[in-house]
Amino acid sequence: MGSNQVTAKSHNIRSILKALLYHQQISRVELAKFTSLTPATISNLVNELLSQGLVRENGIEMVISPRVGRPRMTVELIQDARFAVGVHIGIGEYQIVITNLLANIIFSTTRKFEVCSPAEIIIQEIVTQIDNLIVQSGITKTLIVGIGVGASGLVNVETGVNINAPNLCWNHIPIRELIHQGTGLPVIVDNNVRLMCLAEAMFGEGKTANVMAFVYARVGVGAGLFVSGKLFRGMAAGAGEIGHSIMIPDGGEKCSCGNYGCLETLVSQKAIIRSAKHLAEANPAGILAQKFDDCQTSEMDCVFSAAKDGDEEVLQMFAEKARYFGIALANLINILNPNLIVLGGILGQGEEYFLPEIKKVVKDYSFSHLGDQVKICVSGFGQKTGVIGASALALSTYFYNLSEIPEQEKSF
Ligand SMILES: [Zn+2]
Repeated sequence: MGSNQVTAKSHNIRSILKALLYHQQISRVELAKFTSLTPATISNLVNELLSQGLVRENGIEMVISPRVGRPRMTVELIQDARFAVGVHIGIGEYQIVITNLLANIIFSTTRKFEVCSPAEIIIQEIVTQIDNLIVQSGITKTLIVGIGVGASGLVNVETGVNINAPNLCWNHIPIRELIHQGTGLPVIVDNNVRLMCLAEAMFGEGKTANVMAFVYARVGVGAGLFVSGKLFRGMAAGAGEIGHSIMIPDGGEKCSCGNYGCLETLVSQKAIIRSAKHLAEANPAGILAQKFDDCQTSEMDCVFSAAKDGDEEVLQMFAEKARYFGIALANLINILNPNLIVLGGILGQGEEYFLPEIKKVVKDYSFSHLGDQVKICVSGFGQKTGVIGASALALSTYFYNLSEIPEQEKSF
């Protein structure tokens, strides 16, 4: 077989796997329709996938009212035929998971680390934890397709180098090389918020969205963009830096990026806690001041707790923050024209306080009818969105090979 034929065959197999990813159980006839392959090709390739133990066939009774039709065979992926490792490196904490082919988490571990400790030590620890998790899972290493890593800051996906992560004090860290050397498995690295977007696009809210954004806010504020069936990274991996949109050009606060008045200076967790502290100082007998005095958990959780108990000033402050988010999202909508925006981090945690105002502002400020057409919701994966996205990157690169599939095919 010539190399062109091999490439064509591998491309066709990927198309089938992708159709199975998005449609779960489908008949060979539907597979042919979704992939535009001939029934004979589908038959050959499905037989090959059957022999590799990657798919199974089920007889499903087709109910054709009022009579019962004859059973029809459907093809589905065997979820546990292969696995992937996902690593999410956050600020002061990393998560590692082993997932199956549908990104369901089978084993996981979460560890804290000292922010600004040497990157090499943290990565070495991550390598050890990956090995431990694999041993603990009992999964044969050859069934693990690869490792996906979501790192904070600017990441070169081609080289796997974390170019700059100011919140971790990391510069030019060759994450891919270090983890590959340590584990012997293929490794791919990207920005952690971008991977949250991939988690939603492949396995979450975005499964039917062709253009979507994932907006995350906690220590930093950023967005992942998914355009025409692919992650959009921009020319130098810098796409989605929505946190550094200038909201207050004159007199705004200084941002970690060096500019003044960025969105991040107004709505990051730090900015919200700072606003809350001002409110608590001004009203020492109020609900919020009490919450800060008795605070056993994180300060942000205590601010949420005051909102939950109906502190009017906190609710008003949240509405003000939501307004800034709404304006930034309206600008994003005018540029990207997405059909979906998923929110994560504190925006997900405080959905009831932020989402209604964000939706209202988006409606008011986005151009023409663009704001009416976009669905805005919070991530259903909660704190696991990043690590599921990291696993999704490994699966999409080393199993589904989505980057090989031409654009526009996601909607079939
Ligand atoms: Zn900035």
